[in-house]
Amino acid sequence: MKKVLKMKKVSVLRIGHRLVRDDRVTTHAALVSRAFGADMIYMTGVDQSVKETVDSVSKRWGGPDFRVEVIDDWKSVVRAWKKSGGKVAHLTMYGINISDAAAQIKKESKLLVIIGAEKVPREAYELADYNIAVGNQPHSEIAALAIFLDRYFAGRQFRKEFAGGRMKIIPTEKGKRVEETGQPF
Ligand code: SAM
Repeated sequence: MKKVLKMKKVSVLRIGHRLVRDDRVTTHAALVSRAFGADMIYMTGVDQSVKETVDSVSKRWGGPDFRVEVIDDWKSVVRAWKKSGGKVAHLTMYGINISDAAAQIKKESKLLVIIGAEKVPREAYELADYNIAVGNQPHSEIAALAIFLDRYFAGRQFRKEFAGGRMKIIPTEKGKRVEETGQPF
């Protein structure tokens, strides 16, 4: 399972952040990226506190390799990504329905997934190799991202090992079982 995920490199780029109103959503976009198999998330318009929150989750629950990078210029990230041979999938309700695009997307081994906090600049639609709709109705970037990553990894992301954390969940039918791993905090 690990091998399949390793062969696919996915980063997320979130454009925009509405002050105060988006605080939880922004953190959740990063946590969903991490838990659903992405390697990192680039974010614009935020301070370092999102990074600190996600780093402390990783220290507790493992997976220290996931990175949050706060950036100013998203277009140069997209251009560098494309130059290095990666493809760009922009999630928008105006795009091609994911059920029609999934077979093609799954062939890509290096993907940058763009999501927006609000209206996304026109250039994102043009720079993207794929504009993908998770249904053609408006909803949320977190829901769109989660469904997209799940279709892309076909559920295998949930077998990923998050090593190196201080705590480890032992899945159980009832209640909560959590083991202390003895890793330094
Ligand atoms: N009009 C926007 C659009 O283009 O999808 C909705 C803005 S919504 C507040 C913020 C983000 O959620 C969008 O930038 C997009 O990434 C994502 N989103 C919302 N609905 C979506 C859908 N049906 N399919 C894919 N992405 C969606």
